[in-house]
Amino acid sequence: MSTFDFDLFVIGGGSGGVRAARIAAGYGARVGIAEEYRYGGTCVIRGCVPKKLLVYASRFAHEFDEAAGFGWSLGDRVFDWSALIANKDREIARLEGVYRANLDRAGVTLFDDRAVFEDPHTLRLVNAGRTITAETILVATGGTPNGHMGLPGGDLTITSNEVFHLDEMPQRVVVAGGGYIAVEFAGIFNGLGAETTQVYRGPEILRGFDDDVRHHVHAQMAERGVDIVTNTVFEKVERTAGGLAVTLANGRTLEVDQALMAIGRSPNTDGLGLENAGVDVDDKGAVIVTPYSRSTAENIYAVGDVTNRVNLTPVAIREGHAFADNVFGGLDRKADHDLIPTAVFSTPEIGTIGLSEAAARGEYPSLDMYKTDFRAMKATLSGASDRVFMKLIVDAETDRVVGAHIVGEAAGEMIQTLGVAIKMGATKADFDSTMAVHPTAGEELVTMREPAERVRP
Ligand code: FAD
Ligand code: NDP
Repeated sequence: MSTFDFDLFVIGGGSGGVRAARIAAGYGARVGIAEEYRYGGTCVIRGCVPKKLLVYASRFAHEFDEAAGFGWSLGDRVFDWSALIANKDREIARLEGVYRANLDRAGVTLFDDRAVFEDPHTLRLVNAGRTITAETILVATGGTPNGHMGLPGGDLTITSNEVFHLDEMPQRVVVAGGGYIAVEFAGIFNGLGAETTQVYRGPEILRGFDDDVRHHVHAQMAERGVDIVTNTVFEKVERTAGGLAVTLANGRTLEVDQALMAIGRSPNTDGLGLENAGVDVDDKGAVIVTPYSRSTAENIYAVGDVTNRVNLTPVAIREGHAFADNVFGGLDRKADHDLIPTAVFSTPEIGTIGLSEAAARGEYPSLDMYKTDFRAMKATLSGASDRVFMKLIVDAETDRVVGAHIVGEAAGEMIQTLGVAIKMGATKADFDSTMAVHPTAGEELVTMREPAERVRP
């Protein structure tokens, strides 16, 4: 019988921690878990889930506009922010309850507390003012939004932590950043009717995504009314009688009600006492781990955003599951970080897997680029200017599809399915031999015949 209070103690009740705790308990381990805020973590409480609900809300306005072309006439449109937030909060509370119940049912002991390391096997529960011991400890503390970082007036801005709880719908919004969260929230506020500006420091939003995707999304967001200002940053923020004045480094001043900072996230390791346990972190504060998620301390592991590998919920879940399978199930498992499909819930939406054209050019000497850019079928009657973009990047030597990129309605749904084929190593010939589904947007993926460009050494 172990002399420790628990076989496994998990710090953090988010995507990765909850999965690891449940699976380990299923193998018969005595498991405890501490969560300092709300079970479910970032994704459920203030990330993926509430974000997607707001995205749904934001897309109705465009759909109402489109309805006229199909013979509908609609009455007055009234949007009630308070009703949306209250309904969203109810759903999030329900999900939190499901997370707690699932842990409970698995036999995991829950602590509503902050846990910090005293030594490699001892954690202090800050609120309870007591210590517990565990043979194995899993750090699954996630990440936190980068704040204003010295920006004058930065304390007047908000991050994704606060944006889900605003008392009123802001009528004028500026979003700083050009990544996932910035484009998603620019789309949300624009769709809900706010005057929306997005400010990005580089020449084009969504750095790291395929360049054609970046330009297409930028153009379509602008078409729908988002003012995207590139090559500049916030210089200062001041309170005014009517709201906030945000001065940009390019000299322009924006009058807004809310300024949302979406300028990246950092691993949540501050004050965790990792130095007391021999757990090393990198220069960004991320826990350094092996492919099996083991830290520099033999009995301490870490999964999810705190390791800053690929910061997505399904990845945290896989890492947590693999950790529990290895350490408590006697299996040899590690999460596979290759070819991860992902969606950005901007409007229009992005679905992507594999390499961008720029990355593929660096890896393969011979490539065929297939592209299509067409008017969405629904837009033919509605008169909307919505366009769909799709691109397949093919290694010409093996015929394998090494990158697939979709922008348009349901791109996230499409890329999930397409991801299976690409993960299996599908070739362009496999795409060509697959019958089209008509009439869909997705059929374009199997009917692109001629490369838009052939790259040869
Ligand atoms: P988290 O889910 O962050 O969980 C960590 C938990 O640890 C938190 O609940 C925290 O309170 C707790 N904690 C921290 N320190 C302690 C401590 N010392 N003691 C006790 N508890 C502690 N990903 C997607 O795949 N799809 C999306 O659409 C998507 N949308 C997102 C939208 C937003 C606005 C944000 C911010 C993120 C989004 N993500 C999305 C990313 C996703 O939320 C994260 O990748 C995922 O939550 C990581 O899971 P995790 O278990 O590593 O950490
Ligand atoms: P990202 O890393 O995606 O984007 C950060 C953005 O902020 C980049 O455009 C970056 O510019 C810019 N930036 C960074 N520092 C500064 C600065 N000091 N001043 C001005 N701009 C700055 O982070 P997010 O916060 O948007 O999201 C965090 C992560 O959460 C994502 O990377 C993703 O892993 C996950 N997520 C996933 C979602 C999904 O799956 N749909 C949705 C939301 C989040 P540059 O590119 O020039 O460095």
